Amino acid sequence: MPSTDTAPVAPKNAYYEIRALPGKGYGCIAIQNISRGTRILTDAPLLIVPMADYMKTDIELAFSSLASAQKALYFSLHSGHGQPASAWPSQIHPSVPARERQRIEEQHAARTGKEATLISIFQTNCMEMGAGAAVFPYAVRFNHSCNPNACFSWNAAIGKETIHTMRDIKEGEEVTISYVDMEHDKRLRAWELRHYGFVCDCPACGDEDDEKSFAFESAERRLQVQELDRETRLLRGFKLTEGAKQPAFANKLLKMAVLLQGEGCWDARLAGVFFDIALVCEYNGDYKMGVLAGEKALQIKRGCQGIDFPNFKRHAEAVERIKASRRREMGEAHGWKALDCSSS
Ligand SMILES: [Zn+2]
Repeated sequence: MPSTDTAPVAPKNAYYEIRALPGKGYGCIAIQNISRGTRILTDAPLLIVPMADYMKTDIELAFSSLASAQKALYFSLHSGHGQPASAWPSQIHPSVPARERQRIEEQHAARTGKEATLISIFQTNCMEMGAGAAVFPYAVRFNHSCNPNACFSWNAAIGKETIHTMRDIKEGEEVTISYVDMEHDKRLRAWELRHYGFVCDCPACGDEDDEKSFAFESAERRLQVQELDRETRLLRGFKLTEGAKQPAFANKLLKMAVLLQGEGCWDARLAGVFFDIALVCEYNGDYKMGVLAGEKALQIKRGCQGIDFPNFKRHAEAVERIKASRRREMGEAHGWKALDCSSS
């Protein structure tokens, strides 16, 4: 999140710049029309904490090794401190182990404290990075929307966080990312966003009772994606061949893909759904459909993560394999195989 105190800067960038927005602090505004699937930022981590359940001392240790300019950059980032203590649970269950209790207390103190601290800045700005979390000084400048037009990924191959656009963005439009999981409903999102110290007013957080509103449609889509995800999750990954044997499985994935596209989520999740559809089709010998789904998966993956993303090559090879099967199938249909045999 952009700081509301000092004007933040973006790295020299042809795509966007940081501008003050009335009543909203700062935001990243497109300075040209940007097509969907454009990488608009690669950002090296400023401060890395290699574990998910970090303590205050872990952040202090990471911070102590920074150069003074990096320390100043860290403290220029937004902090979600100063929240009312009454907004957060005041009791910790007696069964919570001592270390976790200390962790919760440290987090609570940072959120409700009077000034920005190492931990309050980390809470507000950290993003997942492998098994831990990191603060990326420029990626954090993007404001949140539950219906964002850009997405972020940690790319371990290049050691950078990337931001890619998920839609065509017009010059003057704000570029946003989502800090929360798209499957979460409005109430859960609001709770999660409180950790950042703000209330979201994006179109998806509008009046869900108005059946003509985007918020209503969005809530419906999220609910359905959640159900389909629950029904298919255990049959994806290494159990995909089991899923492939179920007649309704591919249709459920296809339905999920349609819903995600309807919500504008042209991200790694959507690419993953199309990739699984391709593998299921391959398993069932439907190579024509497999090629279509596979190409779609690669197109989306390229657009939201880039071809240098660690597992892109593996996905591209799988799609090539399906294409080869399709070519063989077409060849056999035209009797080419018989011709090959007779000439050898
Ligand atoms: Zn929202």
